[in-house]
Amino acid sequence: MSKAFDVVVIGAGPGGYIAAIRAAQLGFNVACIDEWKNEKGGPAPGGTCTNVGCIPSKALLQSSEHFEHANHHFAEHGITAKDVKIDVAKMVARKDNVVKQNNDGILYLFKKNKVSFFHGRGSFAKAVEGGYEIQVGGDKPETLVGKQIIVATGSNARALPGLPFDEENILSNDGALRIGAVPKKLALIGSGVIGLEMGSVWRRLGAEVTILEGLPTFLAAVDEQIAKEAKKAFDKQGLKIELGVKVGEIKTGKKGVTVPYTNAKGEEVALEVDKLIVSIGRVPNTNGLNAEAVGLQLDERGAIVVDGDCKTNLPGVWAVGDVVRGPMLAHKAEEEGVAVAERIAGQHGHVNFGTIPWVIYTSPEIAWVGRTEQQLKADGVKYKAGTFPFLANGRARALGDTTGMVKFLADATTDEILGVHIVGPMASELISEAVVAMEFKASAEDIARICHAHPSLSEATKEAALAVDKRTLNF
Ligand code: FAD
Repeated sequence: MSKAFDVVVIGAGPGGYIAAIRAAQLGFNVACIDEWKNEKGGPAPGGTCTNVGCIPSKALLQSSEHFEHANHHFAEHGITAKDVKIDVAKMVARKDNVVKQNNDGILYLFKKNKVSFFHGRGSFAKAVEGGYEIQVGGDKPETLVGKQIIVATGSNARALPGLPFDEENILSNDGALRIGAVPKKLALIGSGVIGLEMGSVWRRLGAEVTILEGLPTFLAAVDEQIAKEAKKAFDKQGLKIELGVKVGEIKTGKKGVTVPYTNAKGEEVALEVDKLIVSIGRVPNTNGLNAEAVGLQLDERGAIVVDGDCKTNLPGVWAVGDVVRGPMLAHKAEEEGVAVAERIAGQHGHVNFGTIPWVIYTSPEIAWVGRTEQQLKADGVKYKAGTFPFLANGRARALGDTTGMVKFLADATTDEILGVHIVGPMASELISEAVVAMEFKASAEDIARICHAHPSLSEATKEAALAVDKRTLNF
């Protein structure tokens, strides 16, 4: 006997669980299916983000930052912290607890919003009159029928060809978040967001970290001036980043991993490390979805093909988040989830891809929204730029963290903000002001004329906006 729903959501990551909640808020009878298991085999909704992504990585970044502060920064405050040690098992247990709180929070939200949750793998069985039949596998198999289906099955880590993850020596993000002791030497392939964040955690805890990047440019998607400033800071911290390398055949043995590579100068290097993290991107996940059964169209990358409104080639089937085109970010997945639920309700759901913020939670943090200077040049847009260094910001001095700057890019004629780029303390929080400003199509002058609290890091944002018109007050 099948159970009938208005909306069936497959996947309870940020895209899926938010879509399910919004659809329930709009009055639909909603089911959400997710197969992720916790260590006891129970449900662990929240997807990659909650279980092996955004949340656990930030928990470890926080712990490792405390350790680094105790070791290297307390003394300047007159605080003596002798013999500082890290108990990695305890740090990882804390991280697991943070994850569990988030899993439990989502289960609570499902109850609160009357979303029916099914634990198991969801797959298309067939199209039926007015909807689709979805099979739920697992311990309690069920058959559901949904008038509307939202696919939010996320993504998986990309492995190097011929080098599968064993999560012992060759680690994906999953294994990288579960390392049981600080490795003496650690290598990462890929200097993107995940590589930099994971590399930072283990470097702070004492590992000798080398990040190997095939591209000749560091953080090619980031504004060049900001990327340069960040690279300077990482070099100073001892995070070794090798650009323009060609990695050879990687071998694992009893002693660890050998990573041979040719560096940018053409020299052959045989790097011996205890563990290797491969962070070369992620692939859309439709494993087990049985997309063929209903003719759901995928592209050559395996992503579900959708239009600008997240509609697939099938009537009544939508897809959101990492499994479709666009940036693989939790907040992008959430916004798409909300927009789809609203479109199903006949409303005008909306996602503005031009104002999606990006953040790298390293120290210094890197955050941006809108276009970079190099993109504006390539697009032939006439612009004005203004920067303000944290060195000249009183709050940053008091914090003892004056690395970096805020940079504004505004249209040369209209003064409309086209991009804001930050490298420095709390960039992840500061960027929100820029997102709001751009969403409201503000000018740099608008931000420059707004009263910002003193002393605060956000004054650097105001000053960078003033700098666009060459009238900074504190620099
Ligand atoms: P996912 O979160 O991947 O969720 C998909 C869910 O669907 C999973 O629970 C999966 O088990 C389930 N599923 C898949 N197939 C089926 C099926 N057939 N049946 C039932 N269930 C199924 N993004 C940020 O914005 N900020 C960050 O700081 C950040 N940090 C990250 C750090 C790391 C280490 C990683 C790996 C990623 C990070 N991301 C971050 C990216 C972010 O995690 C993803 O963009 C986000 O999780 C995508 O959400 P989603 O809902 O599309 O998919």
